[in-house]
Amino acid sequence: MVKVVKFGGSSLASAEQFMKVGNIIRADETRKYVVPSAPGKRNSKDTKVTDMLYACYALADEGKDFRVQLMKIKDRYDSIINGLQLKITLDEEFKTISQKFKEKAGVDYAASRGEYLNGIIMADYLGYEFIDAATVIFFDEDGNFDADKTDKVLSAKLAETEKAVVPGFYGSLPDGTVHTFSRGGSDITGSIVAKAARASMYENWTDVSGCLVADPRIVKDPEPIRVITYRELRELSYMGASVLHEDAVFPVRKAGIPINIRNTNDPEADGTLIVESTCQKPEYTITGIAGKKGFVAVSIDKDMMNSEVGFCRKALQAFEENGISIEHMPSGIDTMTVFVHQAEFEGKEQQVISSLRRLAHPDIIDLEADLALVAVVGRGMKSNRGTAGRIFSALAHANINVRMIDQGSSELNIIIGVSNDDFEEAIKAIYAIFVETRL
Ligand code: ASP
Repeated sequence: MVKVVKFGGSSLASAEQFMKVGNIIRADETRKYVVPSAPGKRNSKDTKVTDMLYACYALADEGKDFRVQLMKIKDRYDSIINGLQLKITLDEEFKTISQKFKEKAGVDYAASRGEYLNGIIMADYLGYEFIDAATVIFFDEDGNFDADKTDKVLSAKLAETEKAVVPGFYGSLPDGTVHTFSRGGSDITGSIVAKAARASMYENWTDVSGCLVADPRIVKDPEPIRVITYRELRELSYMGASVLHEDAVFPVRKAGIPINIRNTNDPEADGTLIVESTCQKPEYTITGIAGKKGFVAVSIDKDMMNSEVGFCRKALQAFEENGISIEHMPSGIDTMTVFVHQAEFEGKEQQVISSLRRLAHPDIIDLEADLALVAVVGRGMKSNRGTAGRIFSALAHANINVRMIDQGSSELNIIIGVSNDDFEEAIKAIYAIFVETRL
């Protein structure tokens, strides 16, 4: 059995955190491949090393003196090395980095050094082999991840390496230059390594005990989610509940490897298990609640709309022409409503209205702003009578006016539109009815 373990920045922010990580890895012989992030924040006022690197490289790029900034970054690593009483030094590495910065080696190269250096320290601390991600993770000329080439090279490399550290976040382009994933991309590296190692589990260690039923900034001490399917997770993360980089799901999902989100600061907690499918019943009828504020509802009315073939297509074309993506589209007999992101729509509203007039000739176009969407997600809803009823009675009791209802045909989610001002109360009310009263 092989487990791939990825540790996020806050799990590796200091020597103390490194020690916790060391204990976790040593506690389980099967934790053979380790994917570290760069050192994150040690406290809320601190700066992530990745951000320090971006700022430092910006100076280099402008031809300004960046030495002080680079030394501050080196200090972060030296304090980890000293705290762990390791014998290595990063002096040579920093000379190379400084030289490469002067040569303007690129912003991706700069950002990737956070993971690269942390990987060197981690390998030394654990006595594992260090594998530079640039030699095993590949992108094509356009910067898209090259899954086939990576899987071939990486799985061959891992097959001959008993225990290794592969830094997260970066790989290389066909010409050998370093390229990074988008921010938070170490999660993706972990998933890629898990697939290549044919792992039985991808453990993603962070600073929370997995996914929570609701946002802790809205609901006090929400319950953790023990088991969640990929599809449920996708629904929730789309609505803003994110514990994992979105793209991290694909490699392991393809290979049928579950992800376990764990907490470095509470290693005894089970965390959340993310699986393709499960017959385990969720603890509550719902798995999770998430949502976002800032939507506009564009209502388009036209008499006899329903009998006009092609009306919806023409109306939607008006949004497409203006590059506006559509969130939801509840419809009635002579009316359809299109939910769009307010921030995206505001600057283009008049263009969209004129495109709508030109293409679809509606009778009335009405705009309503400052709406929020709340998604109630759960594989258990399908087999439970009265779920929607309970949601709406909870909202009614909380004096919340429901502006829109949309239930996906998969019955995996119910989306509710409320006013921005009611957003938090709506989530609290739904959480209370399902979780606090355990209905
Ligand atoms: N260090 C990178 C970032 O801050 C990647 C990661 O931590 O996953 O985005």
